[in-house]
Amino acid sequence: MTAPATPRSAMSGKAIVASQFDRAADLINLEGYMRRILMSPFREVQVEVPVRMDDGRIEVFTGYRIQHNGARGPCKGGIRYHPDADHDEVLGLAAIMTWKTALMDIPFGGAKGGVTVDPKKLSKLELERLTRRFTQRISIMLGPYRDIPAPDVNTNAQVMAWILDEYSSRHGYTPAAVTGKPVSLGGSLGREEATGRGVMYVMMEYARDFGVPLKGSRVVIQGFGNVGGHLARLVAAEAGAKVVAVSDVNGGIVNEQGLDVPALLAHGAARRPVSEFPGGQAITNAALWTIPCDWLVPAALGGVITREANARTVDCRVVVEGANEPTTPTADLILAERGIAVIPDFLANAGGVTVSYYEWSQNLQQYRWTHEQVNRELQATITKAYVGVRDLAKQRGVTFRTAAYAIALQRVAEAERLRGN
Ligand code: GLU
Repeated sequence: MTAPATPRSAMSGKAIVASQFDRAADLINLEGYMRRILMSPFREVQVEVPVRMDDGRIEVFTGYRIQHNGARGPCKGGIRYHPDADHDEVLGLAAIMTWKTALMDIPFGGAKGGVTVDPKKLSKLELERLTRRFTQRISIMLGPYRDIPAPDVNTNAQVMAWILDEYSSRHGYTPAAVTGKPVSLGGSLGREEATGRGVMYVMMEYARDFGVPLKGSRVVIQGFGNVGGHLARLVAAEAGAKVVAVSDVNGGIVNEQGLDVPALLAHGAARRPVSEFPGGQAITNAALWTIPCDWLVPAALGGVITREANARTVDCRVVVEGANEPTTPTADLILAERGIAVIPDFLANAGGVTVSYYEWSQNLQQYRWTHEQVNRELQATITKAYVGVRDLAKQRGVTFRTAAYAIALQRVAEAERLRGN
């Protein structure tokens, strides 16, 4: 059975997740009624978010919080601010959070939030007012044992601090109500770099198992935000890899000898586009996909590896999905035909939510872990999940993605059955 050959624009996040779901559900012979439970969201809320702009006008934005499944624990997942964050995208991302938390075997379900807005067009005060108003409108769904937000695309520790303040002003001091907070407000050491660090740990395991040594290997990273930036720094500093090219929304930069990542990060911290970095040659975003490498890491938005654009031409050994849903189902099949392995998003980028779990536990216990302890536990958790996926993929002759789905579906289905469903 082949997935529909539709480009990202015609295939919603929801549809992408659905086609991948079926393949794994068939593998574990999941009953029809259970497929229905696991595919559909538990609860969805859409809110209108009126925001007083700096010039005195009121602008009204639309926001969503979708709880996909809470059988294994409180719903968990980030909030993104993006012009494309609509109902279907948020729903698809909420479902991925269910599979991600199940695959990591951490006691959470899956949720996602989004506001349809271009935050680059807002001042800092407008962003704060938007965040507070959105939090008020969804706060009825939130809570440390109900649903716990975290950062995602275009949100960060400061946004989480506003959410915490808004939530706590109604419910009393509740640091466990949100993760990815600033460390001085009860955030965890190591949370900010956790997604990038988790991607590196998975690459280290894959490197050992499949003979693609990280040391000296060529890495190309699309996206230089929280995931791509930390990953670039860590694979260069801790794994000895050569980051030959990176990009941001404006374009990319390439250096065959390996980019000087700390200098590039300092350049980016001054809000300058990576393509203006003096230590390499500027390239277009389209050209980034053609650079020969061992590891290609999409670490920005969804739907970037497609049949139309680049699935037949990317020149790498492994695609590591640092972003959520970067590969369309058709592109996924093309990569498989070409013998290019794909490490799926909900395995590769699960480091963020895993350290969110440690942050939540630290908040509930009012006890702080060291950065070393966080990293050690993260490595153990994500490596265990990786080994499970690798072994099942080998045993059943399926891709890593299908194996990862099968493990996650099995766990969530078991929790549903034990609850009487
Ligand atoms: N937004 C991140 C993700 O997609 C982190 C979610 C969290 O920490 O709850 O996994």
